[in-house]
This record gives sequence, structure tokens and C-alpha cells, in this order.
Amino acid sequence: MKRDISLYIHIPFCKQKCLYCDFPSYGCKENLMLSYAKALSKEIDSLRDMNMKTIFIGGGTPTYLSLEAWNIIKKSIDCLKKDKETEFTVECNPGTIDKDKLSLFKSMGVNRLSIGLQAVQDEHLKQLGRIHSYKEFLDTFTLVRDFGFNNVNIDLIFGIPNQSLEQWKETLKEVTCLSPEHISCYSLIIEEGTAFYELEKLDKIILPSEDIEREMYWYTLEYLNKKGYGQYEISNFAKSNFQCRHNMVYWNLQEYIGCGSAAHSYYEGYRYSNHNKIEDYIRLINKNGDAIIDRSKNTVQADMEEFIFMGLRKIQGILLEEFSGRFHMSIYKIYGDIIEKYKNNGLLIEKEGYLALSQKGIEISNVIMSDFIQDR
Ligand code: SF4
Repeated sequence: MKRDISLYIHIPFCKQKCLYCDFPSYGCKENLMLSYAKALSKEIDSLRDMNMKTIFIGGGTPTYLSLEAWNIIKKSIDCLKKDKETEFTVECNPGTIDKDKLSLFKSMGVNRLSIGLQAVQDEHLKQLGRIHSYKEFLDTFTLVRDFGFNNVNIDLIFGIPNQSLEQWKETLKEVTCLSPEHISCYSLIIEEGTAFYELEKLDKIILPSEDIEREMYWYTLEYLNKKGYGQYEISNFAKSNFQCRHNMVYWNLQEYIGCGSAAHSYYEGYRYSNHNKIEDYIRLINKNGDAIIDRSKNTVQADMEEFIFMGLRKIQGILLEEFSGRFHMSIYKIYGDIIEKYKNNGLLIEKEGYLALSQKGIEISNVIMSDFIQDR
């Protein structure tokens, strides 16, 4: 019997690098697109004996890939085992998508699109280093709907330089008026190695205060809830039955395989990842048939920690019975002290068999989650 799996495919090309981005993506590498697509196809071809539960093509900007390169990848994806239940997402950015690519996606069985917008004010888009205006986003969204895509996510970021609470409210209002099925709202984190990191060191960007940022978050929960979007993960909101099944695989610590440069896998208890650099990835695939740079068996302890760490991101939390079924012991045997501590101060809640962060707990989720890791 064929095995069920989730597949992540990484496309590392972008037209230009956004100033806040620390993803493994690169500008000015268009000359590698065709050889990358050929190498990627070889890697995808090795998965023909599995049932694809979900497929997620992310990046980078998958839609920046040329049509010729997409056609190469399509041939391999067409040979994968999928069915009508397979959730198949492609990430897109305005300014890189056209009718030909959308037709190709339809013919490949893509049934979910995730569009990067971030903010509706052009001044913010420019400051973030995005390649598109709000108007271009609207044109993309209309085109996507005209093509019949009825499961669409819009990515937003709050807490960006010089952003006021009013501007964030305006972004949420405009976006909900479009009625996408799913909205992701991430708070901006300035990561080392990004242009924003350097600018912040030089005091060249002004971020909203922590209080304003918190207010933005609280407003988001209240507003999106009122508009019919249920929060199901710290940063993710969806209309009923439109939660992203692929991302749930990560949060539930289920198996997935990653193809492409920098892609990670968690399979048969092993974690492994592919080489980050596009050139090395292509060379290794062509030489060895794989581009894996590290592979290690997850210890039971690491599995427990990851199960908790990822599971607490879900608003519903961790199903305690699932923990004991998976690890053959009660979660309280190992983490009893820490759970009681956070339950007593109202940061963790146990309800109907689930252990979850309270809304207050979400605000300091990193502290709580790392406590589970350190308190062994
Ligand atoms: S489009 Fe996305 S992946 Fe590319 S640089 Fe911008 S944020 Fe990073």
C-alpha cells in the first residue's frame, strides 16, 4: 500500500530580496532557473510511490519561476499520486503572476493559492522592499478569482516601521472586504542577516512601540473573529473548513518530505535538510541523486519537545491522549511541574482533553515553549 505523505517544494528565486526577509531565497539568479527545475524534477520523481496528502510549493517566489521551468516541474508533479482530497498550494507574489501560469496551476491540480501582500499602503510596501503596489495586488487577486481559485490565503505583516495602529486597521478592513478564505498575520521580527537588521543598528528605522504592537495583535483577533475568521494558530485565521492542512502537518508533528534547496524533511523519525545554495543543490542532485547535508534520528525526547513546541502554536493546543498514545506515557510524568506552574498563573489551560496556551500565554509563548525544552 502506498504511504501518505505531505510534500514541500522550495523555489528559491525572487525578483529582489525584501528588506526584512531571512528565508533561503535569492535575487539575480534567473540564469539558474532551468537547471534548478531539472534537478528539482529528479528529486520529485523519487516520490512516485507515495500518496500526496498535501503539496505546498513555497519560496522564494514560486510564481517568479519562468513558464519553461514550471513546465519541467509540472511533468514530475503530474506523475505523483494525488486525489481530489489532496490540498495543493502555491505561493504567489503580485507582479509575477499571469494567465499562463494560473492556467498551468489549474492543469496541475493546484487548488489553493497563498498571496503575499503584507500591507495595503504603498509607502509601506516600498519600505519593505516589496516589488508590487497595492493596486497590483488587487489585480492579481481579481485574476486569481476569475480563474476560479476559491481557497486563497493573504499574507500580512504588522509592526512594520512607521506603521500606525490606524494603518494596520485599514489593512485588515481592506483585506477582509475581499473575503479571502484564509489570512495570515505575522508580527515583524527583525532577523540577523537582513537589511532591516543593519538599518535598525544604525537607528534608521523606527518600529512601533511594544504597546502599539500588542494593540495591533489584540485588534487583529477581535476584528477577524467578528469578520468570520477563526484563529486556529498563533498567526493564522481561516473561515470555517479553510485551515491550511499542510501547515497543520508541521504543527501536529506529522511526516513530510521537502524537495529543493534548503528544504527540510521529517520522515521515519529522521530530520534532514538539503543544501542551501542553489548551485550546490543542482550539482549534488546531478551527481548523487540527493542534496542532503545533514541527517539525524530524532531522539524520543526531541520528538516530545517538538510535539509540544509545535502543538502549542495551535489555538486548540495539544491533545493529551495523543501525547500518551505516541510516547506511551502521560505528559504529566515528564512535564507535570512546568504544566502546573503555567496552569496556576493562567498561561496554560487544560480543557476537554487539550492543553493550550491562554491568550495571555500566547503573548509570551516563546518563553513558555522554551521552558518545556529547558526543563528536562
Ligand atoms: S518575496 Fe518573500 S521570499 Fe522573496 S524576498 Fe520577499 S519575503 Fe523573502
